[in-house]
Amino acid sequence: LANRLFHPEDTVVKVGDTTVGGDTVTVMAGPCSVETEEQVIQIAMDVKEAGATILRGGAFKPRSSPYSFQGLGEEGLKLLKKAKEATGLPIVSEAICLDTIELVAEYADIIQIGARNMQNFALLKKAGLTKKPILLKRGLSATIEEWLMAAEYIMAGGNKDVILCERGIRTYETYTRNTLDLSAVPVIKEISHLPIIVDPSHATGKWKMVSPLSKGALAVGADGLMIEVHNDPINALCDGGQSLKPSKFKKLMEELGIYMN
Ligand code: PEP
Ligand code: MN
Repeated sequence: LANRLFHPEDTVVKVGDTTVGGDTVTVMAGPCSVETEEQVIQIAMDVKEAGATILRGGAFKPRSSPYSFQGLGEEGLKLLKKAKEATGLPIVSEAICLDTIELVAEYADIIQIGARNMQNFALLKKAGLTKKPILLKRGLSATIEEWLMAAEYIMAGGNKDVILCERGIRTYETYTRNTLDLSAVPVIKEISHLPIIVDPSHATGKWKMVSPLSKGALAVGADGLMIEVHNDPINALCDGGQSLKPSKFKKLMEELGIYMN
């Protein structure tokens, strides 16, 4: 179902009044985690002003340590909804388990399946039964074939609205958090019709690398970007080191102008 051989034209996924895939470039931006009402609404207004068309924000967080901030849960989803009401931006938020995917589906316009859950087949099957588009991140050590098979699980359940997200893979290199596999973009474009976006924030773990790799991603044909933005990165509860301040994000969006529209 994900194979271009049987579906030559690009899939365009409808999200509220906007779309992902086809001839446009979509930027999803926002905090790693929803922290407070003021925080998420302020960031939502800032990223919207800069040109983002989808707001990201985690309410259920898949943290490597059980002692790290785990997200606000449903309260976080409620705050995202308020940010959506304030800005009109549709929202993407992660579902980390079978118990909460329906709850996330009630609030979010796109359900994210994170890298750590890319081969959680029970979760993929359930995602296939929901009516919301799914943002499927590439697993930490997943081959492109395994990634597309994960998409296939979702599509086989009846949900054809899958957006792929390259977010870096594990290699021997430790300077960056992961190694961004930009070659995955043209490979996916050749063998699949699904839209693919790139997340340079999680790929590198370093805010300074987000701008150059965003440009690289669009240069190789990505359908969009997912970028972490925080109004106070130093005090962020999660992933501050890779988050852009709103002013830096605005500058990046201006520089990306040549690839947009
Ligand atoms: C995220 O987008 O918040 C996230 C946890 O990303 P990943 O699954 O790519 O690590
Ligand atoms: Mn994050």
